[in-house]
Amino acid sequence: MNPAAGDEILVHESRIQVPYRWSAGILGTRFFIALKERKFLATRCPACEKVYLPPVQHCGNCFAACEDRGGIGPQGSLVSFTQALYKSPAQPERNPLYGLIRLDGADTALLHLLGEASLNELKIGLRVEAVFAERPSGGLFDLRYFRPVR
Ligand SMILES: [Zn+2]
Repeated sequence: MNPAAGDEILVHESRIQVPYRWSAGILGTRFFIALKERKFLATRCPACEKVYLPPVQHCGNCFAACEDRGGIGPQGSLVSFTQALYKSPAQPERNPLYGLIRLDGADTALLHLLGEASLNELKIGLRVEAVFAERPSGGLFDLRYFRPVR
């Protein structure tokens, strides 16, 4: 039966969950395998020598095919930071601190959690180090967080 003219059309608000699979790709897979071994895989442009972490296949500056570059980190410097104050099931913890970290040997920064730190001690340029999971699983949280170097 069709609604008659003048009938109110009801609208129900809801949320849906959409299961999906995401491929890390060849380079991303190698990055996660290295992370599982507590190493950082970066790539380096042979033309301009820019070192990318996370790794990229082609340089964003000159489009040259990049090469593997090891020996990155595990310490680096804080480039920027923030704290998420809203509740969300997508947040890995309550009021997490996030940082952009440029690991030693890299020219780009990696976004990740900051741990064992408070917001008031964070500053641009702060030295931080990687803290790895005790039981790696092949994902981004094999790197638990970065903490200030004490
Ligand atoms: Zn380049």
